[in-house]
Amino acid sequence: MKGFADVEGRVGCADEAAIGGSESKVDFARCPEGLCLDDILSSPLYRGRDELLGFRMLAHVTRAIAAGLAVLSTALPGAAREIAITLDDLPYVMPSRTSPSEGLEQVRAVNEALAAHRVEATGFAVGSQIGWRSRRAVAAFAEAGHTVGNHSWSHPDYGTLTPDQFREETQRTDEALSRWIGESRFYRFPFLREGETEEAKAAADQVLADLGYVNVPVTIDTDDWRYNADYLDALDRDDEVTAAEIAEAYLAHIRERTLHFESLAEDAIGGEVPHILLLHMNRINADHLSEMLDWYVAEGWTFVSVEEAMRDPFYAMPDLYAGPRGLSQVERVMGRPSE
Ligand SMILES: [Zn+2]
Repeated sequence: MKGFADVEGRVGCADEAAIGGSESKVDFARCPEGLCLDDILSSPLYRGRDELLGFRMLAHVTRAIAAGLAVLSTALPGAAREIAITLDDLPYVMPSRTSPSEGLEQVRAVNEALAAHRVEATGFAVGSQIGWRSRRAVAAFAEAGHTVGNHSWSHPDYGTLTPDQFREETQRTDEALSRWIGESRFYRFPFLREGETEEAKAAADQVLADLGYVNVPVTIDTDDWRYNADYLDALDRDDEVTAAEIAEAYLAHIRERTLHFESLAEDAIGGEVPHILLLHMNRINADHLSEMLDWYVAEGWTFVSVEEAMRDPFYAMPDLYAGPRGLSQVERVMGRPSE
């Protein structure tokens, strides 16, 4: 099956493409929902004597102040830091190196770490990798109360597809996941590549809208797939010392990526946003996710679902990047890669 070789060769959401994109800016001073306090206060209605209108305007002003305070509160030191956990490449990555029973074990270990931290996660499945044995791993993830989303049929780079091929890839996996996809219909682009031109982005948006899917971006982009490959090599050699060193380096990498994108979001929009972390369903997370989640708790983060995170107005801000890179949504809102 062609898809398998491609997927195994490029597993994870690697991004080695050249830097592209524009330098365009966003007007970050815009109020949520387009309602600005200054607009209201300068309105002739606000200065009118009609009592009813006065009450109506008061309600508008109260709402505007509440929205302003909500934005302000997220920018204050010590404000709640929220993060949604997502895991790509269900049932499990590297099927060439992972048996269905090992894959199922990995999902169970991930489920255990998530349950211990009361995390409701979202996983994105590659349709072509769901076989009659590996499907038990997807089922175990869904039965643990997590959300299953669509991650294409063969894990292609969207930049290589026509809109019709993209529709076919998405629809085929939608059918394969029908028993697990419920009211939340989430899609994640392989390699986070969402289109190299505005036309290509719009074509994908249209396909997802037609199929009732919501694109779930990532704000904290990580290279867990790279650490996982080295970790598996060390385990294959029974080199537990090196495996432990790689795991330490991996957790440090996650901490560094989190701080990088948190600070980037603060610089870009002047406040905290609920973040969405990109991980993969792999061995290194099966073994070390619990420690990672401990760190988030110790740093004052709280875990939210993708639905909760995406209610934030940040996720409605326009994506100003069109190009070959797979980027964090923070970078997309900025219109350029950050590194
Ligand atoms: Zn992927």
